[in-house]
Amino acid sequence: MRFSKLRLTGFKSFVDPTDLLIADGLTGVVGPNGCGKSNLLEALRWVMGENRPTTMRGSGMEDVIFAGASSRPARNFAEVSLQIDNTERLAPAGFNDSDSLDIVRRITRDVGSAYKVNAKDVRARDVQMLFADASTGAHSPALVSQGQIGELIRAKPKARRRILEEAAGISGLYQRRHEAELK
Ligand code: ATP
Ligand code: MG
Repeated sequence: MRFSKLRLTGFKSFVDPTDLLIADGLTGVVGPNGCGKSNLLEALRWVMGENRPTTMRGSGMEDVIFAGASSRPARNFAEVSLQIDNTERLAPAGFNDSDSLDIVRRITRDVGSAYKVNAKDVRARDVQMLFADASTGAHSPALVSQGQIGELIRAKPKARRRILEEAAGISGLYQRRHEAELK
């Protein structure tokens, strides 16, 4: 699956709708400290179903909503949409009948998160599974945050195994087994 566009609205410092086009090859994002480069990576994790506030460098889930600046009031919701080129039909079963996938996550204050795939309401789990089966996702080793290299080097064997399992695309199977055992 190839990511082709990321759109942020009211997410962290991106108060107005902002598109990041992801072309073939390497895309670099450069800018001064604090301009929002890491926020873009967090938006990508978030739209794929990230639910740990610490990974999002906040203390609560609603901390991703634009909190206001001297000249702009705070927003009531944050939305990230991720467009995926699926012309090669590499999406997992159930999501594989169109040329592009549009995944949207929106969080509204005091309401919580809602997800859509191609304008259809889905559960968080559906989105998380979609990416887990495609060997990517919020916990993917392909997303390396600032400071994470050091973490990887210091990881205990069990934690390192999790990273390898995520890379092998089998973490979705563990999740399903865990849910089956609970039933
Ligand atoms: P560096 O080069 O230092 O790593 P960066 O480009 O990665 O910087 P980010 O960490 O992405 O920068 O952006 C930080 C900015 O985002 C800060 O100015 C912070 O105030 C702003 N920010 C984070 N969360 C919110 C929020 N909820 N509302 C408004 N602004 C926010
Ligand atoms: Mg940064």
